[in-house]
Amino acid sequence: MNVLVLNAGSSSLKFQVIATDLEKIRNDADVRLCRGYVERIGGEAIITTEAPGTPRRKVTAPVRNISAALDHVLRWLASDQSGVPEIRTLGDIHAVGHRVVHGGELFRESALITAEVLQGIEDCIDLAPLHNPNNIKGIQAVREAFGQGMPQVAVFDTAFHTSIPDHAYLYATPYHLYARHRIRRYGFHGTSNRYVAYRYRTLRGLTREQTNVITLHLGNGCSATAVREGKSVDTSMGMTPLEGLVMGTRSGDVDPAILSLIATKEGLSPTEVEALLNTQCGLLGISGVTNDMRVLLQELRAHDDRRIRLAVEIFCYRARKYIGAYLAAMGGADAVIFTGGIGENAPEIRARICDGLQWAGLTLDAERNAQTRGTATQIGTPDSRLQAWVIPTDEEILIARDTVRCIEGEPHPA
Ligand code: ADP
Repeated sequence: MNVLVLNAGSSSLKFQVIATDLEKIRNDADVRLCRGYVERIGGEAIITTEAPGTPRRKVTAPVRNISAALDHVLRWLASDQSGVPEIRTLGDIHAVGHRVVHGGELFRESALITAEVLQGIEDCIDLAPLHNPNNIKGIQAVREAFGQGMPQVAVFDTAFHTSIPDHAYLYATPYHLYARHRIRRYGFHGTSNRYVAYRYRTLRGLTREQTNVITLHLGNGCSATAVREGKSVDTSMGMTPLEGLVMGTRSGDVDPAILSLIATKEGLSPTEVEALLNTQCGLLGISGVTNDMRVLLQELRAHDDRRIRLAVEIFCYRARKYIGAYLAAMGGADAVIFTGGIGENAPEIRARICDGLQWAGLTLDAERNAQTRGTATQIGTPDSRLQAWVIPTDEEILIARDTVRCIEGEPHPA
């Protein structure tokens, strides 16, 4: 089955086509046929496409909305230039899987999209006003392009975290705020965390129930998740992706009382303060230079700048604190797993996070850590009681697999 995987954002549409089916899933033999993205939707868009064996292609064209972006992608896919021989016509695409940000308490796993499911995604709009509407536009664009008969599946970023118990997901705010407005911790990055936990247990030959790990997804957005017996039991992002770790431009945890202080002192509205916490904080806010960890590390190698050093230190310190907290919450774990752009590619950051976790049984193998970039590798010393791994994330594979499993009616996806 050729599955088109879509991630529709406010101004971008990312896509991949993955050939997979139940047998390929069992044999871990899925094939990525191509990938690409459309950026700056709404204006002169940049459309980047690539397939194995053909050079990356970048073109610009006016693209007014997600529907038009999908049209571009589909025209490229069905053309001779795509370099994807498996797809000659749109009939060679058999299903579509969507990344949907928020499934609230409604969706505990991925779902075949029916009128009822679509309504459910709409009902979650007030929980993710910036994201779910775009995901819905992606679903509607597929209906326009392929007709109602195309099977579509929603894979929710929040679903993996629906196993978190109430004592971990409730805030200590008046209970009626939860009852009336669904204000609680939901967590995000669920598909990524679920994928790396799955990959870890297949690499180690463990069952889901034997999987006790702390996953650290460190990219532009960052989150930590406590995975006990294969299930998420706590996660650092909350009602929104703002809570928890220090991120590229997000503050992560702050004292809630400083919000009105910032508003008063800086003359900002509550919405403007929230925007500040989402877009002007984290690595960017502390360093005053950039949210890009690669640049910060390069700068630090070139010269010692106090604010850049602080940005990196605060980032690593917060991540280490969460590891400690989750070790306590879970009663210990077998491994810490690093993933995401920073987690996969920045050995210095992994070393700084793990430095000081020797008490918990974790010592990095300095050489293996230094050499590991983007490949699944154990980086703790062989005698470390708490192991460390780097596992590249692959949300698209999981979305494609869930799409197949939902269509085939396979119970509880791995
Ligand atoms: P997103 O969360 O948007 O998917 P990514 O997972 O791609 O983002 O992560 C982006 C982050 O990863 C950026 O801060 C980038 O600087 C960082 N990164 C990528 N490669 C490296 C590297 N070699 N060294 C340090 N940081 C890196």
